Order: sequence, then structure tokens, then C-alpha cells
Amino acid sequence: MTDDNLLDRALIRLEEAASHLQIDQDVIEKLKYPRETTKTSLLIRMDDGSRKSFLAWRCRYDDTRGPTKGGIRFHPDSTIEEVETLAFWMTFKCAVMNLPYGGGKGAVRVDPRTLSKSELERLSRAYMQAFARTVGPDRDIPAPDVYTNAMIMGWMADEYNQITGSVTPAVITGKPIALGGSLGRNDATARGGFYLVQHLAAELGLSGSRTVAIQGFGNAGQYFAELAAADGNTVVAVSDSAGAIYKADGLDVTKLIAGKNSGKRVADLAAELGATVISADDLIAVEADVLVPAALEEMITVKNAASIKAKVVVELANGPVTAEADKILTEKGVVVLPDILANAGGVTVSYFEWVQNRQGFYWDLEEIHARLKKMMEREGRAVWDIAQERKVSVRSAAYIHALGRLSTAIEAHGTQP
Ligand code: GLU
Repeated sequence: MTDDNLLDRALIRLEEAASHLQIDQDVIEKLKYPRETTKTSLLIRMDDGSRKSFLAWRCRYDDTRGPTKGGIRFHPDSTIEEVETLAFWMTFKCAVMNLPYGGGKGAVRVDPRTLSKSELERLSRAYMQAFARTVGPDRDIPAPDVYTNAMIMGWMADEYNQITGSVTPAVITGKPIALGGSLGRNDATARGGFYLVQHLAAELGLSGSRTVAIQGFGNAGQYFAELAAADGNTVVAVSDSAGAIYKADGLDVTKLIAGKNSGKRVADLAAELGATVISADDLIAVEADVLVPAALEEMITVKNAASIKAKVVVELANGPVTAEADKILTEKGVVVLPDILANAGGVTVSYFEWVQNRQGFYWDLEEIHARLKKMMEREGRAVWDIAQERKVSVRSAAYIHALGRLSTAIEAHGTQP
């Protein structure tokens, strides 16, 4: 994550997709660079009376298809390169799903686990103060990402409303329900990936009950484990940033989530769950039908890709598989359901939240689930068909699908400058 060539590496996928399409070089030139990235430092008062400053960014990568959309990450390793790359991926993700958005992303370089709740609130409000002129319901719409959540979105929405003297819930998504959040946003990333796997199960050779290994046990990982277990699958391994555990006949997901939410790390729960502590690399190489990277970028690389035994990799994280690792997986016949499709359920329900905020009329959970399922299946099927027809990876197919929409929009805007 600290590597400054992350965006260059992400652009490899764009060039690859472009080679399959008759695309004007102008389109690629436009998509190679972010439109704008703002950097600032947020100075906040700590509980002990001292002042501390944190680096923060917001990138609006491309707004050809609509206002920029994407989360805000709080992470100690965040860099401008990472923010721009994540914003690039959001541009393609929104295009894959045909959401009327461009791509954006933000971050604060901080380990939020070291802050008290009131320090976290001051930091979140300071972020919105700094970027109040960047964001807006028709300009740039943030949401949660790694180590941010509904509570933080609520503080940011409140700060925006105070600054503008209005009530504008559509400026940010992933809010608490009481402040105009949508039902079904909390598990949307995992649920979207789950619907996708279910829809393509036969094509992926996943008949009947499956074994699942999950890397990362935050929002996406936990909900995926819950949905998979409820559907009769066996979750054999999970990890978080501190360790990994394995149990061949299945982990008790309910106990695991309860333990994790009580502040324990997954490895601390091994004894209680009758599981074995394994290494991070062991988790990737575990015997399981489905491997779900749900943590950070570049976790599956040339170093560990060859050890993967799963038939299918479902990218709930953004950018977890490097381009070189992709090649190894393709040679091994492992199908990767790529981030810009597999984890798009989150931004899709964010879109539903924004629509509900703007119309002032709210849908029930059934409607949210039905709409999400329909969109995941529609775009998932379109991407799958492109992969079959053109004999390319599902990732390339997703980029081709998105690039088609982006290039049509870029051309429709005209050729100036
Ligand atoms: N952070 C999520 C993502 O990477 C959600 C973004 C959003 O809802 O705007 O897709």
C-alpha cells in the first residue's frame, strides 16, 4: 500500500481491456489521470488538550457519468496513490453497475483504533469542514470504507448540514437509518457478492454446499460469512489483521462475529471455537471451494497465488489480486470474480440510499434486496457473457463492460478541450 506505483499497476487492467475494444485513444488518455485530488491536513484537539494533525485526501477521479462516488478510508498506511487508485476503481465499478456516477475516494492517514470516540468525532467533522466545497449531492458523494462506518457518516452529514444551513442527506451515504440511511446498506457489499456467486454457481462449478475461506473480518467479511453459513455453506477459515483460524468442519459464525464485536481478534477465539491458529499465507492456501479476500489491496501476489486451492476467488476487497497473480490464477483455472463487480453491492445500495434521500420516500428491506439482486444478476450475467464470447478473464470482461459505457459517455460530452 505504501508503494507509489499502485495506480500504474491498476492501469494495466485498463490497457488490457482497451486492447479488446475499438476505443479512441482520447478516452484512454482521459481515464489515465485523476481529474482532481485535494490534500489537506486536519488539525484536531486531542482529549489530553494537545493538538494533532492528520493527512487527508479526497480524489474525484472521473465525473463523466455523474457525480463522483466513493468511500472515505481511515487507515494508518493510506497514501495519495492509494486514494487515487481506489477512486479509479470506483469509476469502473459504477460504470459496471450502470450507476449514474463517476468515481471518487477519500482517506485520512490515521489508525482510528488509537482514538477515543470524541477524538474520532472531531476528526470526522474536521474532514467534512475541509472538504465541504468538494462534496455535494450533485458533485461528490462519500460513503464508508475501511475502518469507517455509519456513525462516522452520520457525524459528517451533520457537519455538512451545519455548514450549509440545510438538511441534505444525499451528500453522503451509509448513514445511520435515523439520519436518512437506507435499510440493507450495512450488509450490501457482502450480499451483492453473495447474489453474484449464487447466480453464477453452475457456471463456476459450485453445485451444492460449499466450503469458504475469508481473508479479512470487517464489514464485508463478517456479513459474507453470515450469508454463506445461513445458506448451508461451511466457513472453514477466517483471518483479520492479527491472525487466522481454521476448522475443517466449519467455524461457528455466530460465535465468531459475537467474539469479534466484543473486541477480540479472531485468533483469540480459536480455543473457544475449537479451531486451529494458522498463518496468513496458510489461509490463502486452505482447502476451500471459495476464497474471499475481504481486506486490503495486493494480498494475493506472485508469492502466494500458486498455493491457492479454491475454484473461485470473490474479491470483496478492492484490488486484492495483483496483475501477475491474476495470470497465475488464470493458468491454474481459478476464476476470479473481480472487485469492480463482486463488491459493487455496497455502492449499489449507496445509490439506492441517495435516490431515497432525493425522493424523500423510503423503501422496505424486501425492495432493497430485490433491486440489488436484479442489478447484480443483470450486470454479472452481462460480464460473464463477455468473458465467454471474447475468451477473456472475468476481470477483463468487467473492464470491457465498463469501458464501453465510459467511452460512450466521454464521446457524448464532445471533444473539447
Ligand atoms: N467503499 C465502498 C466501495 O469501495 C462503497 C462506496 C460507496 O458506497 O460509495 O465500493
